[in-house]
Amino acid sequence: MQTLETDILIAGGGLAGATLALAVAQLAPGYRITVTEAFPLSETPAPEDYQPSYDARSTALSWGSRQIFERLGLWSAIEPQAAPIRHIHVSERGRLGVTRLAAADHHLPALGYVADNRWLGLCLMAALRKSPAIQWLAPARVTGVTPGRDGVRATVNSVDGEGDGSGEPTEVHARCLAIADGGRSGLRESLGIDVTRENYGQHALIANVSTEYPHEGTAWERFTSRGPMALLPQVGGPQPGHRSALVWTLSGAELDEVLALSDDARCQRLQKVFGWRLGRFTRFGETHHYPLSLTVAKEVVRPGIVLVGNAAHALHPVAGQGFNLALRGLMALAETFRYAGQTGQSPGSLPVLMKYQQAHEDDQRRIVGFSDTLVRLFGSEYPTPAFARSIALAGLDVLPDAKHWFARQAMGLGTAKPVARREEHW
Ligand SMILES: Cc1cc2nc3c(=O)[nH]c(=O)nc-3n(C[C@H](O)[C@H](O)[C@H](O)COP(=O)(O)OP(=O)(O)OC[C@H]3O[C@@H](n4cnc5c(N)ncnc54)[C@H](O)[C@@H]3O)c2cc1C
Repeated sequence: MQTLETDILIAGGGLAGATLALAVAQLAPGYRITVTEAFPLSETPAPEDYQPSYDARSTALSWGSRQIFERLGLWSAIEPQAAPIRHIHVSERGRLGVTRLAAADHHLPALGYVADNRWLGLCLMAALRKSPAIQWLAPARVTGVTPGRDGVRATVNSVDGEGDGSGEPTEVHARCLAIADGGRSGLRESLGIDVTRENYGQHALIANVSTEYPHEGTAWERFTSRGPMALLPQVGGPQPGHRSALVWTLSGAELDEVLALSDDARCQRLQKVFGWRLGRFTRFGETHHYPLSLTVAKEVVRPGIVLVGNAAHALHPVAGQGFNLALRGLMALAETFRYAGQTGQSPGSLPVLMKYQQAHEDDQRRIVGFSDTLVRLFGSEYPTPAFARSIALAGLDVLPDAKHWFARQAMGLGTAKPVARREEHW
């Protein structure tokens, strides 16, 4: 069996794992970083060859996430394909309560941005390929982890034709393993790390839709009697400025009904629920759907091991906070690794990883609470009286402090301790 020594082993090269690799390479130079990813990398074209797809999935990035990508030198690459969110309009179907947030009120060009996941991935890969500190094992899966005295021993199997990671094994000795293998983290489970899970009994249907009127940079958060939905502005599409990313919360039975409809009938059904603020829905793109739950790992750190991204916390997507929260955690972790290097400690030592946990836990608790409150207050499964929900929205609009608080959460600026101040503290 081949063996490999590394400092930081990242299991999973999705948005969280890839961004962590870049953040460590830039903020904590000197570490050897190894990323394992189950999917092959060779199919990834260069960003200049990128062809925006009408059906690509996208992520809402907060203003705070833009600042992080600026710090990582990646924002200028992302920006050309990122649609600015200039307004957020929050409303409840059939009720008067509405709240509106405007970037101009906060003296910013945008409250956030919407970018295709594929585009984010291409920009990240292009930056990662330039870093000599980063080695990729792909397509390969981490199939076993044994904690040791100074880090972990991980078995990494190349992914063969079966796609199950049963190919050629490599034994990797790492001082720290960052588990970034997604919401259904197999590695978390194999290590016996428990989670708290709130099953919302709902599904998110994702699709790109075209509208008669242009979105003009407005993100719509609409709470319906069936649960929340969001329409996020996108760049490109057959008629630029008329394409939005839909996140539509449905019960299992409603999901089956919508999936059985033709595209035209889906447009009509959506029209009934969303209304006419964007005129007629004219096209309904490829659909994807996910069962919705809030999953939070009960342990985020162990000696030599740290959980990041969806493996640590997977949220309801309606508030668009999952990756934004993860990103702040990744920066805090990269800074913690730098601190470890500067103080001669192992990046996987428990006191070091506890520092990371302390730096990130307030933010995680607040955002998990914010997303969960939105779902409970406005979701169909929870018996909040409709008038109370309208008052909550109307109240947000007229109470400057409440609205400011809501806007700061949405912009990803609500962190108790900014990263820069935390660094000074260390
Ligand atoms: C419908 C929906 C909409 C969302 N919208 C937003 C939004 O607008 N804004 C926002 O901030 N967040 C949003 N999120 C959340 C966001 O998508 C996630 O936070 C983000 O994708 C997390 O990425 P990740 O890298 O942790 O996990 P993943 O993207 O799942 O990546 C995990 C990676 O690990 C690899 N892998 C798995 N097992 C192994 C193994 N054993 N060894 C090696 N590799 C492995 C997989 O191949 C995969 O590439 C949304 C989520 C959903 C479901």
